[in-house]
Amino acid sequence: MASKDEFVDLSTMDFDISDAQAALLERVDKACKEIRPIEDKCYLEDRIDTQIIPIFAKAGLLGLVVPREYGVGQGVDAVTYALAAERIGQEGLGPAAFFSVHTALCQMTLARWGTEEQKQRILIPATKGDSILAFGLTEPSAGSDPASLTTSFEEKEGKFIVSGQKTWISLGSTAKWVLVFAYPRGKKDGMCAFLVDTESEGFEAERIKDKLGLRTSDTSTLYLDRVEVPREDLLGPQGKGLAVALSGLMDGRLGVAAGCVGVAHDCLDESLRCAGKRSENGELVGNIQSIQKHVGLMSMNLEAARLLTLRAAYMKQRYEDHGEDKESRDAVDVATTKAKYFASNAALDAADRGTQVLNAAGLSMENRCARHFADARVSIIFEGTNEILEQKIALGLLGKNFGAYS
Ligand SMILES: Cc1cc2nc3c(=O)[nH]c(=O)nc-3n(C[C@H](O)[C@H](O)[C@H](O)COP(=O)(O)OP(=O)(O)OC[C@H]3O[C@@H](n4cnc5c(N)ncnc54)[C@H](O)[C@@H]3O)c2cc1C
Repeated sequence: MASKDEFVDLSTMDFDISDAQAALLERVDKACKEIRPIEDKCYLEDRIDTQIIPIFAKAGLLGLVVPREYGVGQGVDAVTYALAAERIGQEGLGPAAFFSVHTALCQMTLARWGTEEQKQRILIPATKGDSILAFGLTEPSAGSDPASLTTSFEEKEGKFIVSGQKTWISLGSTAKWVLVFAYPRGKKDGMCAFLVDTESEGFEAERIKDKLGLRTSDTSTLYLDRVEVPREDLLGPQGKGLAVALSGLMDGRLGVAAGCVGVAHDCLDESLRCAGKRSENGELVGNIQSIQKHVGLMSMNLEAARLLTLRAAYMKQRYEDHGEDKESRDAVDVATTKAKYFASNAALDAADRGTQVLNAAGLSMENRCARHFADARVSIIFEGTNEILEQKIALGLLGKNFGAYS
């Protein structure tokens, strides 16, 4: 007979929310209730919602992932973070994108790669909402393959002079600091990551208007014309910019996945509300079998998306707590990729089904499902398109020699 030690100890799988998590989620819920009417209004008026920033800051949500020694940092674990991000996602992918970009994509990257001086100067104000962070990787001709970017820098008198264009950058016009990735001029290796002050001479941001979804979220094109970056604003070791970018994307995908779980959750709630309230020919629509099928499938997908996301969060936390070796990093990378892929599809599917449950009313932008439908389409594209993520998952199985991009 096999000894007990040969089995994974399933007693460590704990799905209960702790008292500390419940208290935090109450705080998140309160902030979310405060932002809902503002978000609704901004969405219908096609306006960027910046009022979210002081509300999240007051609730302490902008310091959640930052270690306690920095500003109002709370150093929560990745599972707790994912639970908070799911609640924010229920308010829409706009707030979820803001939260994910500022905290997961940028703060986690800065906390991982930044010098002590950078953390004091840049991370602390970001925990208080006094300054916002953005992640500038994508360019007009470099999206799925970040290694093909053309933004470049030269070194002059101890400074870096950065020139190029970045596009589709979330929070690009709102941010005080943008993480900008660039190659040494004329080279295709030795990428560097820079913390670029958006108030620098030669830096300009222009908002992208009339997007299909994410109307309350700032997405911008950034122009850098010989922007001077002091040496102390190099992020991570010189030449390690691609590693910085990839670690940011790994963390960012967890934030997006959790936000998408929230979107799917809200679509199910809206559908159940409608099914239990609206009648058709004297009969509540919840009695119609096709409506029952929609809500049943939404519920299954929601649970599967949540479990994949929480598992990825758990693995990420374990990786960070137990020393960051390459094998576990790769495993976390694949786990967050699966979570983002599945949760974004679940969000889009739930928004589609929710719109069908609400039917004609579901097409009005006054309705949350219609807005989720437009927003969730974006989640299939950003933080790695789902086609690229399919490949990433396959490479986890086949080995990296099979990759389309190096
Ligand atoms: C609202 C929004 C916010 C964003 N925020 C940010 C941000 O904050 N920071 C940032 O840096 N970027 C951001 N992005 C950019 C986003 O990450 C890119 O759009 C995405 O990575 C895809 O790049 P691309 O649009 O250039 O498409 P491309 O890379 O040109 O791809 C075009 C199509 O070809 C497919 N494709 C490409 N290569 C392959 C391949 N090898 N195999 C199979 N299919 C392939 C893609 O899946 C896609 O369908 C944002 C985008 C949006 C829409």
